[in-house]
This record gives sequence, structure tokens and C-alpha cells, in this order.
Amino acid sequence: MTQNPYRQLPAVHEVLSWPEVQALLREHVADLVTEAVRQEIAALRARIRQGEALHWDTERAALALRIHHRLQQADRPLLRPVINATGILLHTNLGRAPLAASAVEAVCEAARGYVNLEMDLVTGERSSRQDIVRHWLTRLLRAESATAVNNNAAATVLVLRALAQGREVIVSRGELVEIGGSFRLPEIMQASGASLREVGTTNITRLQDYAQAITPQTALILRVHRSNFVIRGHTHKPSLAELAQLAHQHGLWLIDDIGSGALFDYSRWGFREEPSPLESLQLGADLVLFSGDKLLGGPQAGIIAGRRELVQRIERDPLMRALRLDKMTLAALEATLRLYLDPERALREVPLLRLLNQSLEELRRRARTVAHDLRAGTTLLTHIEVREDRVAVGGGSLPEQTLPTVVIALKSDQLSDAQLAQRLRTAQPPVIPRIQDGLVLLDLRSVFPEQDAALVKSVLCACRSPSD
Ligand SMILES: *Cc1c(COP(=O)(O)O)cnc(C)c1O
Repeated sequence: MTQNPYRQLPAVHEVLSWPEVQALLREHVADLVTEAVRQEIAALRARIRQGEALHWDTERAALALRIHHRLQQADRPLLRPVINATGILLHTNLGRAPLAASAVEAVCEAARGYVNLEMDLVTGERSSRQDIVRHWLTRLLRAESATAVNNNAAATVLVLRALAQGREVIVSRGELVEIGGSFRLPEIMQASGASLREVGTTNITRLQDYAQAITPQTALILRVHRSNFVIRGHTHKPSLAELAQLAHQHGLWLIDDIGSGALFDYSRWGFREEPSPLESLQLGADLVLFSGDKLLGGPQAGIIAGRRELVQRIERDPLMRALRLDKMTLAALEATLRLYLDPERALREVPLLRLLNQSLEELRRRARTVAHDLRAGTTLLTHIEVREDRVAVGGGSLPEQTLPTVVIALKSDQLSDAQLAQRLRTAQPPVIPRIQDGLVLLDLRSVFPEQDAALVKSVLCACRSPSD
């Protein structure tokens, strides 16, 4: 007579009393351990249901091990460091710019204890946290004043609300941009309570179009950088200086949302037409807005710089309180800005600039070593090839312009590209490849040289062949 196979299954409380499971209870919350035990017993039950005969003498140890693995998966942070092998240096889904060491240190110091966030140490009086970034930004941008908020989207809403609520803002139809899905200029405008006055056409907006749209209802002219697209062919837009002149003739303000806001000369790497906040103010913009975590290479923030009177009005807006920076971001932003006082130092220490500055020769050499180490392992990879490619910087910057790079193309006879990519993403540490033309690419442009060994280890582990 055959015994009921489900009878073999241990009870949850029984498994919980096993010494190896008791050991887990010392490291993990009891609830999570119990849940892992339940789920693994359920998995065994499912195997029996499918007709499998369990050999309990070997199954017990395997069960304990699987509970351990399941707990390791369940009891870890959801936000984890990954290796960015997409080549895209400013990948919004991967947190955009990595911080410089001095910025990381400043964040840790600020996080760990107390800081003079809103206290003047000389007088003992209350001060404004905005004075901290204002100090460095006014110096770097030669601006009358400056402030910073949560991100550039917040900066835009706040500026429009403080300066144009209930009034009209003139924007060219060629600049009604959408950036990263959740930033659509007409919606941002609506959120701020200002009304949009569109002028011109997609490709052509003349100074006259702006001039004719000005009414007593107009508060300001907004110019928005086409951060993630270009309009080519028969196109025209007035220069910033022309727009500034027009605005000021009519007693209006000109606000320039430049998106990225490089404080470094990106033409060094062959990039064109990236607006500089310094230039924008010099050409007559009353305020310039840009992100902290795009080409600046700092933390997520929205920087507002320009006329003192306008910055004061913005800081008095009740929304400022909701959008202000916390001490950790302020610390990171201040440390990043200080690096730019000396551009050579910024180039050495801002990770974004360091990665941009890697030579092709260096990337080729690293790629050859990585490819060699990957070929040396037994894996499901049947094709490992080093090739040259080009990649965008990303993050809503430098549209249609690319950097030369070196990639390692991977293929497997036994895994589809999607399966291969998923294995890489779920490895430890996760590796995020670029998928392009049906190939899984590891692009070293965005991988720090000191991560090469970890990259190889993760890929080998993710693609280990079953026989290995
Ligand atoms: C990226 C971008 C924004 C949004 O900036 P976040 O810092 O991501 O909020 C707004 N305007 C322009 C022109 C941009 O390029």
C-alpha cells in the first residue's frame, strides 16, 4: 500500500524548530522566516501534486537551503546599487548622475548628525538654508541671487506660480516639450495656475509672434530648451538676446529653462549647442532654471538663478516650503558646486565628467580584458565580441549627439536576448545592459573602471551553464 505522499511534508512549526532555521531566526524578522517556510512547503506540495516523488533524506537539507535563499531575496532593500552597462551616463531610471566623493562625504556628515542648516553660527540667529547654495551659485554664475528646490520640474512650477499665477506666459509652439513622460510643459503650466499663450509654429517662431501675443495679461516669456529632440530643416527662433530685449521693452520677464545647465565646457568632447546658465544670464534672461543631476553631475535638484527681486518673490511663495531641499541634498549640491570653482578639479572629481573623459583607447583596453575574462568562464554565452559604437549621454541633454564608446556584445544559443538581459539584471550586483538591434551590449562608457571585476563576476554568475 502506498503512503499518502503529502504526509511526508513537515509542518511549519516543525521546520521552524530545525537548528538551521533557528539560526535564520537570529538574523531575520520572525514573520519573514515563517513566510519563507510556508512558501517553500507550498512549493514542495506543488511538486508532489505534479507527481514527483520526494526523497526526504536529501530533500530536508535542500529545503533548508531554499528557505535560506528565499529569505535572502525577501529580506533585502528594494533600492540597490547596480552596474550601469547601458553606456548612458545620465539614465533617469538609474538615478542619473553619480555623486563625487566629496559630495558623498558631505551627505554622510549631514545625515549622521546635526548641521547648521538654518542657523547663523556667528550671531546664533535663524538663517535661511537657501543661503548655502545661493553663496556658491551667485559666485559660479555671476548672478545676483539664486536658490534651489527639489528638481527642475518643481523649479518651473514654482517660478510660474510665483511670477505668473492668474496671468499669461508666452511659449513658442516649438518648445512645448515633454521630458521623460511626467514633465509636459502645458501640464506644468496648468499646475502652476498660469495660462499658456502659445505662439508660432512647430518649426518657426519669429520675434514678431512673441511681440503680437503681448497683452496686459502677459506676465512673462518662457523659453524652454529642446532637451531631448531637435527640429531640423526650415526652422527659426529668435535669439535669447532678442527675446530679452523684447520682454524688457514691455516690462516683462524672460525666464530660460535650459534643462541641463552645464557648468563645464562640453565642447571639449565635441558637443554643440548646450546652453550655459552663465551665458543665459549674460544674454539677458531674468532667471535661468536647470537640473542639479543632469550635466552638472550633482544630486537631484532644480536650480533657479538670476535677479534678486525675483528670487525673493519665489522664496516667499508658500509652495517653496513644500519644494525645498533637505539637508542631505543641500550638502551634496554645495559640495558639487564647490568642485566647479576649479574646472580641472571638477574634471578629476565629478564622476560624470570623469566617465565622459575616458579615452577610447582606455575603453578598448578595458573591453578586451573584460571580454577575455568572460570567455575564460564556462557560460551559456556563445558569442562575446568587442566592438565600437556610439551612445547618447541621456537624461534630457545633448539631443541627437553621441559619444564614441566601446561595447561587448553578448549572445547565447540557449537564451533569448530578453532572458539574457533579465539574468543580468537579477544578478548580484545587478548588471543593466543596453539592448540594441537584437544584441545585449555591455557598454563600458558608464561602468567605473573599478567595477570591471564585479561586472565580470556578475555576468559569469548570471550566465553559468548548468553543467558548471
Ligand atoms: C529635464 C528637464 C526638465 C525637468 O527637470 P527635472 O530636474 O528632471 O525635474 C525641465 N525642463 C527641461 C528643459 C529639461 O530638460
